[in-house]
Amino acid sequence: MGRRPKSARIEGDAAATLVGGAIATEPLADDRETQAAAEPRTATRDEPTAAAAEPRHDLAHIASPAAIAEATPSMAQFLEIKAANPDSILWYRMGDFYELFFQDAVVASAALGIVLTRRGKHLGQDIPMCGVPIHRADDYLQKLIGKGYRVAVCEQLEDPAEAKKRGSKSVVRRDVVRLVSAGTITEDALLDARSRNFLTALFRSPSEMIALASLDISTGEFEVGEIPALDLPGELVRLQPSEIVASDAGLADAAIARAIVMAGSVRTPVASAFFDSLSGERSLKSQLGVSELGGFGVFSKAELAAVGALLKYVDLTQIGAKPLLRPPRRSGLGATLIVDAASRASLELVRSQNGDKQGSLLSAIDRTVTGAGARELAARLSAPLKDPHAIAARLDGVAFLIDADRAREDVRAALCAAPDIARAMSRLAFGRGGPRDLAAVRDGLAAASRSAELIARAAPVGLPAAIAAIAARLGAAPAGLLDSLRRGLVDEPPHLRRDGGFVRAGYHADLDAALALRDDSRRVMAALETRYIEETGVKSLKVRHNNILGFFIELTQANARPLLSEPLSATFRHRQTMANAVRFTTDELVEIEGRIASAAERALSLEQDIFNDLAERIGAAAAALGEVASALADLDVVAALAEIAQAENFTRPLVDDSAAFEIRGGRHPVVEQALRAAKAGAFIENDCVLGRAPPPANASTNATPGFDDERGRDEAPEARIWLVTGPNMAGKSTFLRQNALITVLAQMGSFVPARHAHIGIVDRLFSRVGAADDLARGRSTFMVEMVETAGILNQATDRSLVILDEIGRGTATFDGLSIAWATVEHLHEVCRSRALFATHYHEMTALAGRLDRIANVTMDVKEWRDDIVFLHKVKRGAADRSYGIQVAKLAGLPRSVVQRASEVLVLLEKKDRKPAGDGAALDELPLFAASRPKGKPMPAADAGPSPLEQALDALSPDELTPRAALDALYKLKQLR
Ligand code: ATP
Repeated sequence: MGRRPKSARIEGDAAATLVGGAIATEPLADDRETQAAAEPRTATRDEPTAAAAEPRHDLAHIASPAAIAEATPSMAQFLEIKAANPDSILWYRMGDFYELFFQDAVVASAALGIVLTRRGKHLGQDIPMCGVPIHRADDYLQKLIGKGYRVAVCEQLEDPAEAKKRGSKSVVRRDVVRLVSAGTITEDALLDARSRNFLTALFRSPSEMIALASLDISTGEFEVGEIPALDLPGELVRLQPSEIVASDAGLADAAIARAIVMAGSVRTPVASAFFDSLSGERSLKSQLGVSELGGFGVFSKAELAAVGALLKYVDLTQIGAKPLLRPPRRSGLGATLIVDAASRASLELVRSQNGDKQGSLLSAIDRTVTGAGARELAARLSAPLKDPHAIAARLDGVAFLIDADRAREDVRAALCAAPDIARAMSRLAFGRGGPRDLAAVRDGLAAASRSAELIARAAPVGLPAAIAAIAARLGAAPAGLLDSLRRGLVDEPPHLRRDGGFVRAGYHADLDAALALRDDSRRVMAALETRYIEETGVKSLKVRHNNILGFFIELTQANARPLLSEPLSATFRHRQTMANAVRFTTDELVEIEGRIASAAERALSLEQDIFNDLAERIGAAAAALGEVASALADLDVVAALAEIAQAENFTRPLVDDSAAFEIRGGRHPVVEQALRAAKAGAFIENDCVLGRAPPPANASTNATPGFDDERGRDEAPEARIWLVTGPNMAGKSTFLRQNALITVLAQMGSFVPARHAHIGIVDRLFSRVGAADDLARGRSTFMVEMVETAGILNQATDRSLVILDEIGRGTATFDGLSIAWATVEHLHEVCRSRALFATHYHEMTALAGRLDRIANVTMDVKEWRDDIVFLHKVKRGAADRSYGIQVAKLAGLPRSVVQRASEVLVLLEKKDRKPAGDGAALDELPLFAASRPKGKPMPAADAGPSPLEQALDALSPDELTPRAALDALYKLKQLR
C-alpha cells in the first residue's frame, strides 16, 4: 500500500486507464510503483489547469449520451457513476488513491488545498484532476464534510486481476458504496468522541407544529418529538444536529432557515415525498423489529413523516445498509426545562460565546472519563428535567457515589478502560467494523461487569433506584458473549480485518493448524535445502523467495552445470539464468509452496469467518448491548457529577413543586474556576431569594456582609423580581448568570455550587445578557435585543426564571429606560415570573416603591479617593451611580479623556441628569476647551506622568532635611 512516491500523488498512472484509455484494466495496488516508474511522463502532467481556456465541466455537457458514447470504456463508467451522483463530490477509487475529476476536482482541490492537475482530454478539453491517497482519506474526508460537502465514495468492487480475466480491455467493476455527509459519518477519526452527531429530519405540519426525528448513526441514539414552531431555534441548538434534512418548502421558510443557521447545521434539501408518515411507520416498525409502536409511545403523523424522511435518507446514503436504532427517546418539550436559543448561547451552557467548549458550563463540570459519558452529560445539561421525582432520583445516585468515594474511584478507573461500545457496534452493523471494534465490545463488556461488581460490593443492599437500575443494565449482555470475545480475540488486534492476525491461538483448531503450516514454511524450506545440497553435492545451493517467482533454488553459474544435465535435470527444472546465478525449481518445491500458500489463504478465510461470526453475535445482541453502553454512559455521568460535587464543594439542591427560589452562598462555577486558575483571588458567594420560600431547615450562618446579615433572615426580600444595580465590573452579570446556571444544574440532577439551594421547578429559563449584533441575519444590536425581549415577555410564565441584563441599553437613554421600565412592569404584572434584572438606569429603582414584589439589591463597592474597590457582594439597596468613569480609568482610557469625562459628569449631574437630548442642558455644557481652567494645557493621551507625579518621583524623603521637606511640600501644592 501507498508505495507510490509522494510527488506522484496526483499524477496517477491509474488515471491513464480512465482518461487515456491506453490501459484498460488497472494494475494491482502493489504493482503500481513499477507501473508508474515504467510509464513515460507526459508534458501535461504537472501543468496547472489555469492555462485551460473556458472549460465546460457541467454534467449536462460532459455526461450527455453522445459524450458517453464517444468515451473510452473507463471514462464511460466514470461518467455514468458521476451522472448518478450529481450532488456529491465523487471519490473514485483507483488502486491506492481516490481520484477526483472535472468540477469535483476543481472544488475539492480548493477546499482541501491540494494541487490541481490535468490528465488527458474529454470532448477535446483538458480534464482537471486531483487525488487523495487512501491512507490520508479520513483527514481529507473530514475537511470536506466539515465544509458542508457530501462525498460519494466509489469503490472497486473486484480485484483488477478478475477484470483482466474478462479480457484485456475490460474495466474493473465499481460503484458508489456510500454517501458521506456531516450527519452520516461513523468513523472515529471523523467524529468527536465527546459529542453526539445528530442527523435530523424536520417536518412542519399543517398545524404549525414542527416534528423532529434525530438519529446519531454512529451510536444508534434516536429521538423523536414535536414542538411549537416558536421553540425550534432552542430545540435545534439543544440537539446541535450536524445535518438537517428538510423539504425545499421547509427550507424556504425564513424562520426555519434562521434556526438552522443558528444551530450551525448543514442543510440537505430532499423531495417532499420523503415525508410520508405511512412509510415512516413501516420503516420504523421494521427497523425496531416490532409489529406495533405502542410500546414506544404515541407518534403523531408529523413525527412519523419526519421519521420516514430520516430513515429514507439514511437508506439512501448508506446504500441499503441498516443503522442500529436504539428505542426512540421522546424529546417533546413537555418533560424538560425549555431554554431558547439565545438564552442557551448567553448562558454558555455547552459552548462559550466564541463557539469553544472551553469556558462553557459543560467544560467546567465535565469530569467524565469516557466519550459516551461526555455525550450523555452534554445531553442532560442541554435538557434539564421538570419532574422533581426524576430529579431527586438522579440526585440520590450522585449522593450515593459521593458517600461511596472509594467505590467511585474504582468505578471511574474501570470506566477509563471502557471503549465506545455504541460506536463500535454501529460500525460493525454497517459492515465497516474491524477487529478493534470487536475488541471494543469485549473491553466495554469487561468494564461493565467489573463496574457492576464494584457497585454491588459498595452497597450489597439499599442501592438508590437510579444506581440499581444502572447496575441491572450493566449486566444485560447475553451470557457467553464476553467469554467468546475474550477467547476469540488477541489482546490488541490490528485495525484491519483484511490481513488477519486477530484471532487468539487455541480458539479454533483448524485455524491453528493452517497457521502452523503457513508459519512452518521456513523450517520446511530449510530441510528441503539441506536435502538438495546432499543430492547435488553443491554446498552453496540456496532455496530463495521473491514476489515474482515465489520459491526457487539458486546456484552460481559454475555450480549450476551438473543440474542442467542428466540425471539431476530430471528433478531440477531450469527457470531463469541471471548474470551470476541460475535458478531452478522442482515438483516438490512447487507442491510445498502451494501447500503453504493455501494454508495462508485458508487461515485468512477462517479468520474472516470467525470475524463474521463474532460480529453477527454482537449484531444479534444489539439491543442488550445498547443497554450496556447506555448504562456505562449513565454511570460515568453520575460518578463524574459526584466527583465534581466533592472537588468543588457543591451541595445537593432541593427541587420541588413550590414557587421557591432560594440560593444561599451561590457561586458561578466557571468564573470561580477561572479566578482560581488565574490566582486572582477567591470567588465571593452571594444569596438570591426570589419569591416566598420557607426558611431552610439548616438556616445558614452567613458570615460575610450582605443584606441577609444586615437585616436578619426574616427581612430577606420576598420579592419575585430583584433589580440589581451597581457599578460596572462589580459582578452583576456574573451574579445573574450564576443563579440561572445553578437552576440548570439542579434540574439536570447535579449538585450545585451553593451552600444551600431550594428551587421550585422552573418551566422556562430565559437569559438575555449583553447585546450582540446579528449582522449576518440583518439585525442590529437593538433589534436583536428587542426580538429576544419580545420572545421572553410573550412566553414567560409564573414558573419561569428570567434573567435580563441591561435591557434597553442599545438605544437613546429615554427610549431605553422606558422600555426597561415597561418590561419590568410586564414581568411583574402579567408574566409574574421570578426574575433578576440588572440595570444602569438608576431611575428604575423607584419601581421597588411602587410594585410590591420588586426589591432593589446592589453590588457593594468601597470608594477610596477617586478609585473604587469591587467587593462583589450583593446587598440590599440601590446604587446611585455607576462609577463608569472610574472603571474607564482602570481600563486605561487616556488621562485627558477620563479628566474631561469627570468634568462633563459633574456638569450633567448639576443639571440633575438632564438627558442628552435636552437642548437646554447641552447649550449650558461648556465647550471642550472652555471647560478647562485657563492656562492649563490639555495633557496628551500618552503624556506619561504628570508634573506632580514627576516631582513626587524625584523626591527621596530619606535624604531631605526638615526644611527641604517643607519646601518640597509647598512646591507640590503649587503643582496640583
Ligand atoms: P458591567 O456592568 O460592566 O457589565 P458587571 O457588573 O456585569 O459589569 P461582571 O462582568 O459580572 O460585572 O464581573 C466582572 C468581573 O468581576 C468578572 O469577570 C469576575 O472576574 C469578577 N467577579 C464578578 N463576580 C465576582 C464574585 N462574586 N467574586 C469574585 N469576582 C467576581
